Order: sequence, then structure tokens, then C-alpha cells
Amino acid sequence: MEGASNLDSGKRESKPSKGLLQSEELYQYILETSVYPRELELLKELREATAKHPKAVMGTAPDAGQLMALFLKLINPKKTIEIGVYTGYSLLLTALSIPDDGKIVAIDLERETYEIGLPIIQKAGVEHKITFIQSLALPVLDKLLEDPENESTFDFAFVDADKVNYLNYHNRILKLLRVGGIVIYDNTLWRGTVALPRTLVPEDMRLSSHLIIEFNKSVAEDPRVQMSHVPVGDGFTVCRRLY
Ligand code: SAH
Ligand code: CA
Repeated sequence: MEGASNLDSGKRESKPSKGLLQSEELYQYILETSVYPRELELLKELREATAKHPKAVMGTAPDAGQLMALFLKLINPKKTIEIGVYTGYSLLLTALSIPDDGKIVAIDLERETYEIGLPIIQKAGVEHKITFIQSLALPVLDKLLEDPENESTFDFAFVDADKVNYLNYHNRILKLLRVGGIVIYDNTLWRGTVALPRTLVPEDMRLSSHLIIEFNKSVAEDPRVQMSHVPVGDGFTVCRRLY
């Protein structure tokens, strides 16, 4: 239960280690001391343009984005894929982090939200790296896999769309990624609900929480990957393809 949730933090006894996600003050500290002062102006602009949208909470948290940018710089990927673009915070961040000849296949079933961020992506001069595909993600992955030339060629993937399909995405992405390639899944701690007794999970989150628990279990048992749960944002699960 460490770091499990801030949903019910008021009911908890204090423990020696409160865990990152249980302290609002600690989160603000991280944001104010190291995230906001370093966030690129264009990313900030995109985040602010998103703030007015009714589903703004879906945007990638800037602290999670900061970690992702660090990973991207370590991997220096040429070929990447993103599932779940929304207004494009993680997409712009990826586009700014990869080399000039790097490519991103970016998939979202909605184009309207992508268009909120698009002018900022254009202003950043990175649109040429992006192929936006308006579609459900699974058929796009299947289509990519129809061409054996795509197998084991992607260096990086970010998955941040419908949780019901995370395992379906995982099985396809592991074929698309090269050995040593990295995939990051977002929202895998699902506001801490994964570690709460079911009765304490808000009703509208129970199914999704259950699906995430099943996904986390599969990944933890998956010998094809090295993995780590990172309690940043709403939880990153980082996997590296081993074979
Ligand atoms: N990565 C984004 C946040 C994504 S939010 C950011 O950094 O801001 C989740 C997105 O997934 C939404 O835009 C939604 O339209 C999209 N989505 C949901 N189900 C999908 C599916 N089955 N296929 C493709 N996109 C989907
Ligand atoms: Ca997310």
C-alpha cells in the first residue's frame, strides 16, 4: 500500500515513509523546484492550451514528461510510436527529444484534440517527424505487423490510450520493438486504486482498475521484458524488450 493513493489519505495513519503519491506538498515541491523551471516554453504553452479543455486531466503530467524526455535522450530513438495523443503533450515532447530524422507514428481515434496542440507542434518545427493516424490503435498495429519489414524496427513506444487494450498493445508492440527497445505504459498505478481494497475504489474506476491490475500482473510475469513501475504522474511502467 506504500504510495498507493491520495484518494483516502485523510483516513490513513502516518507511516515512516509516506510514499511519493501521498503528499501533495512533496509533489508541488518536485514541480516547483525541478519540473516547471526546466519545462520547455513550447511544452508549457501546449499544457496551458490544454488546460481549458474539459478532459485536461488526461494530459501527461509534466513531471512524468520530464522523465520520459530523459529516457528519450538516453535511447536517442529514430523510430517511435505513440498510442493516445490527445492534445499532444507527450507527442511534442517526443518530437523535441528525438533526432531531426526521427519518426513518430502517432495514433488517436480523435483528431480534434490533436489539432489543439498542432499549431504549437508546427511552431516548434517538428511536425515533419510526425505521422498522425486517426484511428483505433489496434488495427494500425496489426497493419504495421502485416509488413515484416516493420518487425523489430521501433526503438521506442509510448502507450497512453484505452486501458482495456493494454495487453493487446503490449503483445503487438513487443513484435514492433527491436530487442533493447523501450515501451512506456502510462497510468499503470491508476490513481493508486490498484492497491486499494475493491470496496474503496470509486465505482466508476473499478473496471479500469481491475484491467490495469491484470495488465500489471501479466507484465510482471512476462519473461520477454525487463520492467519497472515508476510512481511518477499516474504511474509509468517501463519495459525493455529482452529477446
Ligand atoms: N499522451 C497524451 C494523453 C492521451 S489521453 C498526452 O500526453 O496528453 C488518451 C487518448 O487516447 C485520448 O486522446 C483518446 O482519444 C485516445 N484513445 C482512447 N482509446 C483509443 C483507441 N482505442 N485507439 C486510439 N486512441 C484511443
Ligand atoms: Ca495518461
